[in-house]
Amino acid sequence: DESVQREALITAIENVAARIEDEKSHLTDLDSAIGDADHGNNMYRGFSAVAEKTDEFEEMSPAEVVKTVGTTIIGNVGGAAGPLYGGSLMTASQELEGGITTETSVAFAEAYLDKVQDRGDAPIGAKTMVDALVPAVHTYKKSIEHDDLPPLTAFAKAVEGARRGVAFTVPIKATKGRASFLGWRSVGHQDPGATSTLFIMEEILATAEE
Ligand code: ADP
Ligand code: MG
Ligand code: MG
Repeated sequence: DESVQREALITAIENVAARIEDEKSHLTDLDSAIGDADHGNNMYRGFSAVAEKTDEFEEMSPAEVVKTVGTTIIGNVGGAAGPLYGGSLMTASQELEGGITTETSVAFAEAYLDKVQDRGDAPIGAKTMVDALVPAVHTYKKSIEHDDLPPLTAFAKAVEGARRGVAFTVPIKATKGRASFLGWRSVGHQDPGATSTLFIMEEILATAEE
């Protein structure tokens, strides 16, 4: 029921915030190679503000929690990642208004990816978070709708998809975001936003597996 979902969601959010804190300098190092060395700090600023709201989350529906995570990220994270993460969470949270089910989780994942692409206009292969999200979302949807796998198994496969997507960002040339300013010099570096997307998904999976 709703309170079980809410507690699981709050635990996932706390685990994500802790992981982002742990990976702050790692994400900033990745961004210093092909960007402006702020991705770790940007994500940390956003998720530490989110973690401070766990008391407020106790009074909310799962959809409201996700929406509030989005607005908090928008309010605390500048740069490209703030509106991409925050705005997409806000919009996609509407898909969870009827509660979190296997079906609404697929709709949420698709709406999230749609919004990232709507806003950022990055195709696959531009060396952005889209490269982690596309294989993750497609794998999740296919695993549920075509292969009939249970949601947790499907999500584990989605995380593997995101991991392959992150690896795929290394050899390619950036054509969107700050890294595109480097042109061919961006080749050989892993995209920070794809990496933070993977870390967030890993923590959601680890929480769901507990
Ligand atoms: P900024 O580049 O403004 O300093 P961040 O460093 O926080 O912002 O985030 C950079 C990440 O944002 C990139 O690694 C990339 O994954 C993502 N990103 C940048 N531009 C786009 C875009 N147009 N579409 C999707 N993701 C993008
Ligand atoms: Mg940056
Ligand atoms: Mg910046």
